Amino acid sequence: MRGRSFYRRRPRRYSGPPFWLLAMAAAVIVLLLLWAGTRRTVEVSMEYEMPTQPPYTVALDAGHGGMDTGAEGYLDEVVLCEQTVDALYNLLALDDNFVPVRTRPNGEKYSVDERVETAAQRKACLLMSIHGNSDGDSSSHGFECFPTPPGRVWSQESMAFAQCIAQQMEQAGHRLRGTNGIRFAYYEGKRKILVDSEDDRVRELKSFGILEKAPCPAVLVEQGFVTNAQDAENWASPEGCERAAQVYYQAICQYFGTQPMV
Ligand SMILES: [Zn+2]
Repeated sequence: MRGRSFYRRRPRRYSGPPFWLLAMAAAVIVLLLLWAGTRRTVEVSMEYEMPTQPPYTVALDAGHGGMDTGAEGYLDEVVLCEQTVDALYNLLALDDNFVPVRTRPNGEKYSVDERVETAAQRKACLLMSIHGNSDGDSSSHGFECFPTPPGRVWSQESMAFAQCIAQQMEQAGHRLRGTNGIRFAYYEGKRKILVDSEDDRVRELKSFGILEKAPCPAVLVEQGFVTNAQDAENWASPEGCERAAQVYYQAICQYFGTQPMV
């Protein structure tokens, strides 16, 4: 008869990684899967035919939104961006020649890539990114705009559109900054370099992301200075944004050669 084991059986030792580590790894994997599920996986082609007749799809890009409120002054820059996009959207929507598209819903922070993707998905044939300017010197004022710089696919068309905008802005009584209100912007590291529009050398330096990545001709406008009292009143108040939208609408019609509604 076998007696009971004299020795107590030793508990089997687990030799793998500690449980807390496994639990954490599992949690990370679950979170990654959840995150991946929320990402859009649609591949958007950035190349498509530009239409030669109406309706023309115009992408309107509020330069700031959500937690990104932009420059501070007499008002937050984001207010100018969204009010102007709203007003311009409404004008374009009334005109059968155009299909306006927002690159972001108001109140939301979207990355440049996401905004560009929306424009491409909707096959935009023109993109306008709307910003307000700011400066420590409250006397700085006026309008300037930045087309896609030289040497890119849409440089020429972007410049043609910028010229329409600057011309209409001048007619509306806004002061054009620089030679003609049109400049090229580049980044050297964090430093922004502004170049006169007559200097059409092709540079390796990158311009604003929205211009470099846009799937169509594009112009970024600095509608006026939110840090200047006069500009803020004339070009950033609700009436000012309405006025700016009218100017942009005229410029868009001029660019496409369509008859404005009024
Ligand atoms: Zn801005």
